[in-house]
Amino acid sequence: MRSELYIDGSWKTASDGKTFEVVNPATEEVVHHIAAATAEDVDLAVKAARRAFDTGGWPKMSGAERARYLRAIAAGIRARQAEIARLETIDNGKPFPEADWDIADAAGCFDFYAGLAEQLDSNPEEPIALADGRFTSKAVREPIGVAGAIIPWNYPLLMASWKVAPALAAGCTVVLKPAEVTSLTALELAAIADEAGLPRGVLNIVTGAGSVAGQAIIDHGQVDKLAFTGSGPVGSKIMAAAARDIKRISLELGGKSPFVVFDDSDIEKAVEWILFGIFWNQGQVCSATSRVLVQEGIYAPLLKRLVEETNRIRIGNGLEEGVLLGPLGSKKQYEQVVAAIEAATAAGATLACGGTRPEGFEKGYYLRPTVLTDVPLYSAAWVEEIFGPVVCVRSFKTEDEAVELANDSRFGLAAAVMSKDDARAERVAKAFRAGIVWINCSQPTFTEAPWGGYKQSGIGRELGRWGLDNYLETKQITKYVSEDPW
Ligand code: NAD
Repeated sequence: MRSELYIDGSWKTASDGKTFEVVNPATEEVVHHIAAATAEDVDLAVKAARRAFDTGGWPKMSGAERARYLRAIAAGIRARQAEIARLETIDNGKPFPEADWDIADAAGCFDFYAGLAEQLDSNPEEPIALADGRFTSKAVREPIGVAGAIIPWNYPLLMASWKVAPALAAGCTVVLKPAEVTSLTALELAAIADEAGLPRGVLNIVTGAGSVAGQAIIDHGQVDKLAFTGSGPVGSKIMAAAARDIKRISLELGGKSPFVVFDDSDIEKAVEWILFGIFWNQGQVCSATSRVLVQEGIYAPLLKRLVEETNRIRIGNGLEEGVLLGPLGSKKQYEQVVAAIEAATAAGATLACGGTRPEGFEKGYYLRPTVLTDVPLYSAAWVEEIFGPVVCVRSFKTEDEAVELANDSRFGLAAAVMSKDDARAERVAKAFRAGIVWINCSQPTFTEAPWGGYKQSGIGRELGRWGLDNYLETKQITKYVSEDPW
């Protein structure tokens, strides 16, 4: 396990020597200590990234050359996949098979953006047709500069990859701050990039508190672009900080995503996708479908099957075989989710199942998967993101009512609909005010497809070619070609 900051191609302790604890959420044991970066350390990291961008070769390299580094990083991740997945489980609590999946996805993300980096070479310029024949014009795409990337703890290496891979592919240099509760695998990414020979200063990783290291990144005048995934309140702070220096920003924030199930759906299939949509990663998923709307004809039998299957989910340490639900990511998160469930029942919601610690667990941030019914509209449990294994289920009568309930949220990250009537499913998919819509499923995520939210769920799109656009500027170059004097 690494414990130092990775700045300008070297490993460094924090300037004041301070560290913070790494706690395994399954056991509550302190398993490691990691350097807590100061503003001074962040300044060194930003200046290294600035130098690598302004005077180093990285942005001037061809896309194909950068792609070679990205592919080497992908190969480095794959070569250590099981070991890194184990670290992720120890750090975050998620079941090992989920962590293993994430790590494979992270490697795939570097390969995908290697491909897009190569395409930048074959299509570097776009001719612009002008009405005035005395001029020719073209648009070229160039990297923005130094990107400051700040990420959450729910998908530690994957969220790092969603930002680092497209930024490097575009020719940007990066200062990345992982979440303080899950920094282990980001440091392994630095080690892998170092082994891949990535030029110094191109990728810098500073671990530490959001209020110190994160704040220093967003306030730094030499950072050109901020890429953030996390909560709405911190997203607002980032937007405000970016406004001062007119930094470019992309924000991936929270959600309270609906899943509308029509009465022509197969109940068993619906239950399967509902479970996946809310209990995967202990429900700590920005796009989790945490509000389930079921048409009244199948509400009672569906709820019965949902509760039966929820009670069957095997809870335990993510390193144990067969475990489907691990502990929540941290003590703070556990306490917040428990408080949200208490507030929900106090507001009149009914606990159909879960809501308590599972029996036999003395240590660890374990919580039984929870189904809430009768949740009053406009109560916190219906409106606010809980970010835990808690689903609110309610019935609806008509398609119009379902769409209205689904869209009645300040969030707009994701939404799902299930129906055997394809025309209806497509109609509802279009009516959702959300950036990601699933039909007859919930949660599948693909590196090739755009990811991001409407409304207060964010600004901009990650993944796919849209993810690369986040790190590119467009320049107009116009030439006077006429023999005539101007
Ligand atoms: P958070 O906002 O508390 O923290 C996210 C990151 O911001 C951390 O690295 C933290 O250290 C840093 N930070 C905190 N204060 C800061 C400051 N003042 N300046 C700069 N950085 C600061 O969020 P979290 O609890 O880590 O993650 C959970 C949230 O993330 C949820 O709301 C979830 O929906 C969201 N999320 C969104 C997506 C998406 O793609 N839309 C994906 C995953 C998580």
